[in-house]
Amino acid sequence: MWQAEVRVDLDAIRANVAHLVAGTTAEVMAVVKSDGYGHGMVASARAALDGGATWLGVASPAEAITLRESGLTTPILAWLVGPGLPLHEAVAADVDLSVATLGLLDEVIAAGEHTGRVARVHLKIDTGMTRGGATLADWPVLLEAAAKAQSDDLIDVVGVWSHLACADAPGDASVDAQLAVFHEALEMADRFGIRPRFRHLANSAAALTRPDTHFDLIRPGLAIYGLSPMGGRVEGLRPAMTARARVMLAKRVPAGSGVSYGHTYVTPAETTIAVVPIGYADGIPRHGSNAAPVLIGGRVRPIAGRVCMDQFAVDCGDDPVHDGDLVTLFGPGDDGEPTADDWAEAAGTINYEIVARFGSPRVARVFD
Ligand code: PLP
Repeated sequence: MWQAEVRVDLDAIRANVAHLVAGTTAEVMAVVKSDGYGHGMVASARAALDGGATWLGVASPAEAITLRESGLTTPILAWLVGPGLPLHEAVAADVDLSVATLGLLDEVIAAGEHTGRVARVHLKIDTGMTRGGATLADWPVLLEAAAKAQSDDLIDVVGVWSHLACADAPGDASVDAQLAVFHEALEMADRFGIRPRFRHLANSAAALTRPDTHFDLIRPGLAIYGLSPMGGRVEGLRPAMTARARVMLAKRVPAGSGVSYGHTYVTPAETTIAVVPIGYADGIPRHGSNAAPVLIGGRVRPIAGRVCMDQFAVDCGDDPVHDGDLVTLFGPGDDGEPTADDWAEAAGTINYEIVARFGSPRVARVFD
């Protein structure tokens, strides 16, 4: 092992996807954007497909093309599609594109004509997230144009879809409200002759808690990596990421020693300080200063003082901690190590951000 590493348990991703597949009648799109939430995009995609996913989901068309270049032939949807992108490359690579405006529809049609292919499109309706997607007011105009383009064999409307804002708060009234708008949007689409093979709405939280949102395809991201949007462990899911490092230097220091920048931690007694060679440039949240827990010397202890760019310190008391000892930052939690949820709580963020930001070129990624 190098100074710090992320271990990714691909069996866990496979099993997590298989669990999600078993829990739905819909197909499963494994969301592997943003380098597979920090787990490695291509390796995660392969593991997810082995587990029974039949689709891959990414944000940018460039991510989708990278998946294609790695030899994956499964359907891929890219949804972060704005004006002015080289969409012909995505269409040529048989990537499905999300479309929510007339302008983008025109660009996709032009990309299809440029490549001599019928572009595959998923029309996005904004059901209440107020992010991407056509508003219900703009929806009929988009449907009309899409229906015409489809009848002219310029596009294939493979999907109609939307995204939920509050599915991680089970019982939140907005989920029902968004679901109702989605049904309305589908009925309108039907009136324009658009009857997509894939209607999709559910992210991980909805996949786990709301079968009535599954339709033809679910789009879990976080859950395939074994984490829950609601926090905590979910039966049947195993966290796939373990982050570890080796103590660079352990040394005895006297009581009253100020530790790291700003001396925000001062040793209360003579103690062993362990220096761990990984910092905020590697994804350790600086908000985890004096808070985020690590397993070191058989005990869970918080980071002492501020997280630096490349390192942080831990006050190990009188525990026998030495140079080169293993430090587990977070993992599934099965061996007493903290979890990504613990780190999220300590740093005032969400488990998504802990795993997605973790790792830099200086951190080795090892697949188990
Ligand atoms: N669908 C879309 C459009 C997304 O943007 C995301 C993630 O942000 C997902 C699905 C997966 O969400 P989650 O990781 O909560 O399952």
